Amino acid sequence: MNRSTDTGRLASYAANDASSRGRQFPEPPPLYRSEYQRDRDRIIHSTAFRRLMYKTQVFVYDEGDLYRTRLTHSLEVAQIARSVAVALQLNEPLTEAIALAHDLGHTPFGHAGQDALNEAMRDYGGFEHNLQSLRVVDLLEEKYAEFPGLNLTFEAREGILKHCSLANACQLGELGQRFLDRRQPGLEAQLANLADEIAYNNHDVDDGLRAGLLSVEQLQETKLFRQPFAEVQRRYPRLPARRLIHETVRRMINRLITDLIEQSRTNLNAAAPASIEDVRAQSAPLITFSKTVGEQSRTLSRFLRQHLYYHSQVRRAAENADQVIKGLFSAYFKQPTLLPNTSTTADDTAARARQIADYIAGMTDRFALREYQRLTGGSVSLSGTA
Ligand code: MG
Repeated sequence: MNRSTDTGRLASYAANDASSRGRQFPEPPPLYRSEYQRDRDRIIHSTAFRRLMYKTQVFVYDEGDLYRTRLTHSLEVAQIARSVAVALQLNEPLTEAIALAHDLGHTPFGHAGQDALNEAMRDYGGFEHNLQSLRVVDLLEEKYAEFPGLNLTFEAREGILKHCSLANACQLGELGQRFLDRRQPGLEAQLANLADEIAYNNHDVDDGLRAGLLSVEQLQETKLFRQPFAEVQRRYPRLPARRLIHETVRRMINRLITDLIEQSRTNLNAAAPASIEDVRAQSAPLITFSKTVGEQSRTLSRFLRQHLYYHSQVRRAAENADQVIKGLFSAYFKQPTLLPNTSTTADDTAARARQIADYIAGMTDRFALREYQRLTGGSVSLSGTA
């Protein structure tokens, strides 16, 4: 048999082709790949994936070439998630697919953009970036003759839909059901979620220090940074500052990943799920940090929220992002013919609002800025430094 099914090195509780709930539009199985390798490959070839290169993670694209974008963030999430997947004998291609797709629905300008679009959409069902990632892979990508979207497996879609309001869950059929029943997704989805947390916490420390928005002294407030920083200083007293920081961040990531693997192994041994269905039936996730390290990670997240995401410079950029997103939304809403697919413009107001939200969410930072300038004549800087 030519088909690669990946099952040889998989634990019984991992996702596998044989137990997959399949695709919305049935397709013949791939010849030389597993179903989840095909999912991953479709994501990499998607338009939305390429656009991640020009979307803000925390810092706007023109602030410097060394900061993370959503693309490099997604690659880091995938790297971390794959390492853990192999250690736990989970399905690596599925884990990678979910990690690479997890931010596809993000608006331009990071969280500021998402908040602005959510407010603009308040009367029309709001805007959630997780749900938007699912819309991208289910509907918005136009790549195949026989179906809309990428027609990914249930398991990949389940992983991409990390959170969702109960109101929206009710509309999503089988995929939304777990939010209503308070059940879990597969382990690969649980893992991609925590790999995201590990990636952004650590790279935001790195980027925040590089930008001069955070200081080493401030970061000492958090145990996750303080301990490895002191270890590295003790062991390499004359290390230049850049390498001192990188060596510290490397150790932070390592500590989180090691803890995640070890605690999850303990959880899996205790719960002993025999299949992905057993995993889904659990009342709590099985991929977790230990209590101590989980608390340290959350403390670091809170620290970053307070000192980096709410830093006056980042907030100034956020206020400008708000103006751009809302300006675009109202311009399209007043004059729908400005939208590219005017022939399909919906008559119904809510449907038209959703069409506009889909269009704006798909924009890169620089396209949104150019479009805003073109439509409103207004000029806005997003670097926060001007
Ligand atoms: Mg992310």
